[in-house]
Amino acid sequence: TDLAHIRNFSIVAHIDHGKSTLADRLIQLTGTVAERDMKDQLLDAMDIERERGITIKANTVRIEYPAKDGETYILNLIDTPGHVDFAYEVSRSMQAVEGSLLVVDASQGVEAQTLANVYQAIDADHEIVPVLNKIDLPAADVDRVKEQIEDVIGIDASEAVHISAKTGLGIPDVLEAIVTRLPAPKGDRDAPLKAMLVDSWYDPYLGVVVMIRVIDGVIRKGDMIRMMQTGARYGIDKLSVLRPAMQDIKELGPGEIGVFTASIKQVRDTKVGDTITHEKKGTDTPLPGFKPSQPVVFCGLFPVDTNDFEDLRDAIEKLALNDASFTYEMETSAALGFGFRCGFLGLLHLEVIRDRIEREYDIDLITTAPSVIYHVYMKDGSKLDLHNPADMPDATLVSHIEEPRIKATILVPDEYLGDVLKLCQDRRGIQEDLTYAGARAMVVYDLPLNEVVFDFYDRLKSVTKGYASFDYQLMGYREDKLVKMQVLVNDEPVDALSMMVHRDRAEMRGRAMCEKLKELIPRHMFKIPIQAAIGGKVIARETLSALRKDVTAKCYGGDVTRKKKLLEKQKAGKKRMRQFGKVEIPQEAFINALKMD
Ligand code: GDP
Ligand code: MG
Repeated sequence: TDLAHIRNFSIVAHIDHGKSTLADRLIQLTGTVAERDMKDQLLDAMDIERERGITIKANTVRIEYPAKDGETYILNLIDTPGHVDFAYEVSRSMQAVEGSLLVVDASQGVEAQTLANVYQAIDADHEIVPVLNKIDLPAADVDRVKEQIEDVIGIDASEAVHISAKTGLGIPDVLEAIVTRLPAPKGDRDAPLKAMLVDSWYDPYLGVVVMIRVIDGVIRKGDMIRMMQTGARYGIDKLSVLRPAMQDIKELGPGEIGVFTASIKQVRDTKVGDTITHEKKGTDTPLPGFKPSQPVVFCGLFPVDTNDFEDLRDAIEKLALNDASFTYEMETSAALGFGFRCGFLGLLHLEVIRDRIEREYDIDLITTAPSVIYHVYMKDGSKLDLHNPADMPDATLVSHIEEPRIKATILVPDEYLGDVLKLCQDRRGIQEDLTYAGARAMVVYDLPLNEVVFDFYDRLKSVTKGYASFDYQLMGYREDKLVKMQVLVNDEPVDALSMMVHRDRAEMRGRAMCEKLKELIPRHMFKIPIQAAIGGKVIARETLSALRKDVTAKCYGGDVTRKKKLLEKQKAGKKRMRQFGKVEIPQEAFINALKMD
């Protein structure tokens, strides 16, 4: 295809503003997928993505569109991940296209992720077409939202396309706008091959599939190629375009987007942003490349049933095949036995992986307190990157500790602003900015990441009844008064509940933790002290009183089947409990004890 007949674009939007529905309509209207194969959220492949309505990996589809000018265009849509954890992936896939559709729900207006995503599109020098969606809703207010786009984002919205992705209204106008308003790609067919590695994933039948955007030159099936960063060489086995199922193609020229397979064993062998060229007569000027995405949140994953350890290892290895941003190493804990210390891009990423292990591999897990990476500076001049509070050195040897900070942007209706400010203040936030856009406030806070990783987003949603939107960026490290807090149950430390806390908040956190655990741990035949401590010093304490009756006592020994049932129920319950010395702690306690109210 010649360059003038290609358009490459992505869709940027806040979650739930209708990105996937619009993608479905574009695919449907152009007949890319037969009507009988059409299903909702076609590009959101994984079940979890469907259930949570989020897109994790970037997905691509090639559409053919006969435009009003009588010419047929090839449109490549890259559907980017919508969640803040995957912001870095968004910024990378944006480099592979020239334009963006900015979808804004006309009944809601601009939200935090609208801003974050559109700024990435602007950074990537995209031409941007604003699209106002959900105009079928009575609450839609296109004039107000256009004004907001112009005031808050600063782009012209006078030519915005008005649509309802749900009813299909206005979709032909979107297709025309893509062709007439977005630029065609540039490139030189006769130059040496230069293609950008945009994404890669593991397919159980095909092995590693690599998605590329050709910049210059032509790539064909059978070509010998070289990845410039890794130096690895491969022969192209299969070259395809995604419609969205793979369809083989002879060659891909400048401006085109497609995928290939080449007997690559694992996703880790491919570096997103790498330049692909021919082994012979290749280019010698690689693309700038990207930094690899780094995990920022760490936690331990342990099987509830120690017999499941091998299955857990298997599950983690399989998941990691397809997700190079997820890291793991074996960990042993005195209390929890063998497990893995895993690193994630953010909390949602953590939850997705944990859910998949529990669901797809049927393994019950204990998840330990999520932790960020602390920089621990020792008095002897050495420095330690602390991923696990259990590894915290003796406090007397430590000179100082730095923690990661974020810049959080929150958009919220006026009436909830006070609650949001209080929440940010309670989480040690420093207010940096507060502006208004219509009846909404936009606040910018500098916050410690560790105060955000656990339940900040849940709290924000609950104090604002779901009306706030939130986005963040990592900013760097800063020193603060941080200490390790330990939890002792029946005088034994429970590693999995250790956490790093700010010294001034330690008593409060310790008290809350002990109170929670008192509710969560079932009573035993003996009294159980529950304590929080820093170093050797107890800062909070609760006592769980002893239980006297046993569960079968009320059966008077008469009704044998009932007694048996009760015992069976108790046994099943035990599977979700872990023994700590003489005390059994239910699995839920590990997560729930960490939540702050
Ligand atoms: P995404 O998170 O941006 O991908 O949003 P989705 O495409 O998943 O849409 C979120 C919700 O909005 C879904 O329940 C859609 O059915 C609904 N939705 C999408 N477009 C429209 C529209 O034009 N009108 C109405 N009323 N609902 C829509
Ligand atoms: Mg979606």
